[in-house]
Amino acid sequence: MITKKTLNLSLKSLKEFGKKRLPDEVRIELDERDECPLDIVRDMCDPDKLGIQLLFVPEDCGGMGGGAFDVYRICEAMAAIDLGIATSVLATFLGSDPITVGATPEQKKRWLGKIAEEGILFAYGATEPDAGSDLGALKTTAERVMDGDKIIGYKISGLKQWISNGGIADAYSILANAPGGPSWFVVEKDAPGFTHDKPENKHGIRTSNTAALALESVYVTPDRLIGGVEGQGLLQAQAVFGYTRLMVAAFGLGAGWAALDRAMPYSTKRIQAGGPLSEKQGYTHKLIVPNVTRLEAARAFIEETAERIDSGAEGSLNTEGAIAKYMATEAGNKAAEDSIQALGGYGYTHEYMVEKISRDVRITIIYEGTSEIMEMTISRDRWQLHLKTRGQHYHDLARQSETLHAQHPNVGADTAALALHALAEVLERARVGRLTRFQHVLLRLGELIAFAESAACLARRAAKAEEGRLHEKASDRFNAGSMAALSRIFAREAACKVAQDGLQLVVGAGGVTEAEVAAFEASLGLPAIHRAQAGLIADMDLVADTLYGRAEKHAEAAVALQR
Ligand SMILES: Cc1cc2nc3c(=O)[nH]c(=O)nc-3n(C[C@H](O)[C@H](O)[C@H](O)COP(=O)(O)OP(=O)(O)OC[C@H]3O[C@@H](n4cnc5c(N)ncnc54)[C@H](O)[C@@H]3O)c2cc1C
Repeated sequence: MITKKTLNLSLKSLKEFGKKRLPDEVRIELDERDECPLDIVRDMCDPDKLGIQLLFVPEDCGGMGGGAFDVYRICEAMAAIDLGIATSVLATFLGSDPITVGATPEQKKRWLGKIAEEGILFAYGATEPDAGSDLGALKTTAERVMDGDKIIGYKISGLKQWISNGGIADAYSILANAPGGPSWFVVEKDAPGFTHDKPENKHGIRTSNTAALALESVYVTPDRLIGGVEGQGLLQAQAVFGYTRLMVAAFGLGAGWAALDRAMPYSTKRIQAGGPLSEKQGYTHKLIVPNVTRLEAARAFIEETAERIDSGAEGSLNTEGAIAKYMATEAGNKAAEDSIQALGGYGYTHEYMVEKISRDVRITIIYEGTSEIMEMTISRDRWQLHLKTRGQHYHDLARQSETLHAQHPNVGADTAALALHALAEVLERARVGRLTRFQHVLLRLGELIAFAESAACLARRAAKAEEGRLHEKASDRFNAGSMAALSRIFAREAACKVAQDGLQLVVGAGGVTEAEVAAFEASLGLPAIHRAQAGLIADMDLVADTLYGRAEKHAEAAVALQR
């Protein structure tokens, strides 16, 4: 268990480490040289130096036993420093995750103990040249080595692709097909028959080492089979998705904010047309405020999911992890891309860093499951809920949001409810028209679900903030009033998106009569959604004022508007 004080101390040490060892000039050079600074990665994981890995390792294995909430805060902070180096640290945790969830007590003590006490680096070897999103297509094999009827080891053969820390790790978790099914094995770097390729020349995260691996009859003893039972590999990988995707979600959040934290100060100094860019609504309300809003909606989802994982009561929360990853990484990408625009020509050069952040954060919508795979995961799971509840699931959630609105009329919960009701109608229309036979519709529904659920979640977070009941380790970047404004803005966006995109999908899929389109339009609550847009620009003004420290100047206007 990590206290708030310990977490804050770790965040502070991490920030100081970043400032000292990874100033912009160093990062630019490393990026240009396409180099992973192994000494820095090792120092981050050295228990006698920064020892950041201790937070992730359970206490009984020599670590500090951080929970999902701690891990989210640390991952966000690491990503804000440098996403490539953060990926290197993450790889150790991805690599050790099959051990954390599936290993025998002896294996846990041995490997997690080595991570905690010796700071060894791990890599996670799942992806193959022909098995990426579809891990079931895995070709690497683990052949039993027998002595009579006793298994005395395994010979692993195959190729692994795009492995973070592939060329620098001390130990690797390798997913291979054993006779009993896909299984994880620990392979050490100097095992005979094991080689890695030269580092990939990548678009971004060039400060991380990514390499292909080759295994030619690599012999391992039976104690290297994680959990000691064959065939558990995909289950072990699945069991941690909620948690690992939350880490990548936090990466999207950290990198997106890192870009905005460069764009905003720049805009206060850059004078165009007689005044700073930060004073120009056409600039802030396009390039800054919408990105802040989406990032904070994603944060709400991350924090709620982290709390639920830490409560231990609800299983692995795979779909919630997928929504958090999808929303945060897409938001992080858009924020970084818009930050290039916000810096104009300067943004397009290496020196101003936002283009590096933009290249780096691009990976977060690819690794640990692409955005399209997230859309599929979200859609399939929630589709089942829609069917199981005979179409009531999202109407029920909408009613909960309406109840919240009765207690907290300023947090946008009424508009979030409109988004959820509209979503229920879109899903129902998709059921009647059997529209999920179109894969495009299925995946787009995943996006609508993620937006509507995030809107409700942000409204809950804003309500908690009003009550002073946020998690003690929650981010405190915004006060309750600004968070309520962010929530109102995001709920409006979500409601519009669900209704309009839903309408486009349903009509676009064909087979609906004029009368059915009219009935569907009426069921979506479009007039209410349109009316809920009232106050949008004033709320965006309020958020911009908060971001630029002008909140007091306009506080009176905001209060008057809410009345
Ligand atoms: C820098 C980097 C680091 C990485 N680190 C690791 C690591 O440490 N360990 C590891 O095991 N892997 C790692 N990966 C691999 C990463 O997880 C995969 O690249 C990712 O899962 C996608 O797999 P793929 O590249 O084979 O793409 P594909 O699965 O071939 O996907 C290509 C495109 O098709 C889409 N697509 C795929 N399937 C479907 C479908 N059924 N329907 C519709 N669209 C679909 C995808 O969304 C994507 O847009 C890393 C990758 C990179 C680039």
